[in-house]
Amino acid sequence: MEARCATEFAFDNSFARDLVGMYEPAVAATAPTPNALLINESLALELGIDASWLASPEGVDVLVGNVAPAGAEPLAQAYSGHQFGGFSPRLGDGRALLVGEVIDVFGRRRDLHLKGSGRTSFARGGDGKAAVGPMLREYVMGEAMHALGIPTTRALAVVATGDPVRRETVLPGAVLARVAASHLRVGTFQFAAAHHGTGMVQRVADHAIARHFPYLAEQPDRYLGLLQEVVRVQAELVASWMLVGFVHGVMNTDNMTLSGETIDYGPCAFMDQFDPATVFSSIDHGGRYAYGNQPSIVQWNLARLAEPLLPLIHDDSERSIELATTAMRGFADRFDARWLGGMRSKLGVAGADSGDPALVNDLLAVLHDQRVDHTRFFRRLSSAVAGDLAAVAALVPEPTSFHAWAKRWMGRVHGEGRDPATVAAAMDAVNPVYIPRNHLVEEALAAASTAGDLTPLRQLLDAVTQPFHERRGGERYAEPAPASFGRFQTYCGT
Ligand code: AMP
Ligand code: MG
Repeated sequence: MEARCATEFAFDNSFARDLVGMYEPAVAATAPTPNALLINESLALELGIDASWLASPEGVDVLVGNVAPAGAEPLAQAYSGHQFGGFSPRLGDGRALLVGEVIDVFGRRRDLHLKGSGRTSFARGGDGKAAVGPMLREYVMGEAMHALGIPTTRALAVVATGDPVRRETVLPGAVLARVAASHLRVGTFQFAAAHHGTGMVQRVADHAIARHFPYLAEQPDRYLGLLQEVVRVQAELVASWMLVGFVHGVMNTDNMTLSGETIDYGPCAFMDQFDPATVFSSIDHGGRYAYGNQPSIVQWNLARLAEPLLPLIHDDSERSIELATTAMRGFADRFDARWLGGMRSKLGVAGADSGDPALVNDLLAVLHDQRVDHTRFFRRLSSAVAGDLAAVAALVPEPTSFHAWAKRWMGRVHGEGRDPATVAAAMDAVNPVYIPRNHLVEEALAAASTAGDLTPLRQLLDAVTQPFHERRGGERYAEPAPASFGRFQTYCGT
């Protein structure tokens, strides 16, 4: 890492430069009494920014939008989106803005973006604001995902504004400063096509290629390549969500990136008991975005990306559809490879065997039928490798079918002849002890937003940002919600 730790961001704003017509200049609202609640020091370091300066009044003024730093070109990005299947041609950053693109200490280009920073020309009826609770929630969920090794946008800071926000009740307001490989969304392409036509789609596609898949830039079939690459990164992303029991909750095309990073942590949550029908969002009545539907929804969204790209893929429209269809078919292979590979690792299996898909599916049927806690089950499985099956069997109320499965599984693991301690350690490196459990997240957010006490949130962050490292005294963070917590619902009034 280059030794650069400054009080100025190294901006280079390619979106503003390349894509006039795809944004409106924006000015953040003034926060009357900014107060930094969380600052992500390690992320600041990656951006080449001195974390103690960020925490100073000058730094906080930048993080909350009171001051545009030197070199920034604040703008609200335009995008469309299919929301729960219905097309909205004009969404865009209604309460957010792109401050600029920072070249980080590794030379990577990263968006610095503020959310909750006031109304923009895309605000429609919205107030442009965000409440402290949901912004802290995005911080915790994103950092947990990052620590789990899942591509994601990341929170740099949450700053309370001192401005009230009216939702069902009056809540304290906040701005989230967020860092992303880019904020290009499927909806960005949809906006280009709906409002400008193919020329703009091409400019957006060239911009996406330059940022995320630069090796395609000189290829004659680069737009087909772009589709193939987004299919790949999104297949891998959703497979990694599935492996940890993450439910995004609002997989509209405006909430799906070209980079393959998870974005827009609204009504998302981690599943406790394994059930493909798990839905947390109070507005997802039909279960469109249920845990088990996520891979097919990603494919549906990818088809929405393919549509505006078709005229760029081939001059002959039938040939173009053929090529795009073949690219879309690549999803299944990419998804299966990542999912099955990930499941093998979770089960302590190194090589591939043709019986593995059945081994996985039969286990999931047991977990579903017996309503077993997903995270705890996989974590405890490693002790079974060394011969102690009791700990994991204790999680299964009626363990007959589990025991039958476990016999097959043990045969598979021991058949590979690897040292049991090595296998168990490898399993513990991929099966987390700590995820942001819903009851703990709620408890921590309540303490932070009502009592101004950030201690529970910081403790939770400590656990979920080292998710594979079991620590003494951390039992509380590993346990599922008590029955009294009831069925968890998330609300969209973020
Ligand atoms: P989301 O569901 O948060 O991904 O947002 C969907 C769309 O609604 C985006 O265009 C947002 O910018 C916009 N939006 C959400 N909340 C607000 C708000 N409070 N004020 C203005 N626009 C908003
Ligand atoms: Mg969104």
